[in-house]
Amino acid sequence: MEKINVQKGQLIVVSGPSGAGKGTVLAQAFEKYPNLRYSVSVTTRAPREKEVDGVDYYFKNIDEYMKMLHDNEFLEHQCVYGNYYGTPRKKVEEMLENGFDVVLEIDVKGALEIKSRFSEAVMIFITPSEKATIEERLKKRSTEKEEELMVRIGSALDELKQAEKYDYIVVNEDAEKSAEDIAAIIRAEKCSTAKNKTFLNKLIYGGN
Ligand code: 5GP
Repeated sequence: MEKINVQKGQLIVVSGPSGAGKGTVLAQAFEKYPNLRYSVSVTTRAPREKEVDGVDYYFKNIDEYMKMLHDNEFLEHQCVYGNYYGTPRKKVEEMLENGFDVVLEIDVKGALEIKSRFSEAVMIFITPSEKATIEERLKKRSTEKEEELMVRIGSALDELKQAEKYDYIVVNEDAEKSAEDIAAIIRAEKCSTAKNKTFLNKLIYGGN
C-alpha cells in the first residue's frame, strides 16, 4: 500500500452527487472546524460566474493541465463531464505535514482511487435524503446548458450507487447538522485505534 508522505493531518475525501449541497455543507464545516483545509483542484473547465481562480479552482488550459499531469503534479486526476480535474499533490502533502486535516472534494472515481492508494483516507459521501432533490437543486442552480444538465442528473444517480463504498454517509437535510456530522466523523477517526498505533506503541513500550 502506497503511503502518503504524512502522518500528522487527516486526509478526508468528500463526494456526492451534484445537487447534494456539498458546497454549503463544507463551507459550514470549515467554519466549525478551524483545523480543516480545502484542497483547491486544478481544472480545465471554464469558470462559472462568481468562481474565483485559486479559490474555487485553479483554472488552466489543456496544455497547462497536461504539463502538470506529465510532471506528476497530481495526487489523482479524472475526466469528469468532458473536463479534466486534478488534485495538486504538493499542496495537499504540505497541508497534511503541517497538521491540517485536508478535504478533497472529488468525484467518485477519483475518491475510490485515493482510497485504494491511501487506506488511511476517510471517505464521506454526502447525499440528499431523496433522489428528486438532486434534480431540483441542479435545475435551480442552472449554471449548465440543458444537455449538460441532463448528463449531470444521470451521472448523479449513477454516483448514488457507489455510496456504499464510502466509510460514512451524511444525509444532508440541514447543512449545519451535516457540517457537525462531518466534524464528528473527523474527531472519531482521530480516536480510532488504527490511527493511534504509534501512540499506543510508545505508551506501552516507551521510546520515541
Ligand atoms: P464541478 O464542475 O461541478 O465543479 O465539479 C464536477 C465534479 O468534479 C464534481 O463531482 C467534483 O467533486 C469533481 N471534482 C472536482 N475537483 C476534482 C478533482 O480534483 N479530482 C476529481 N477526481 N474530481 C474532482
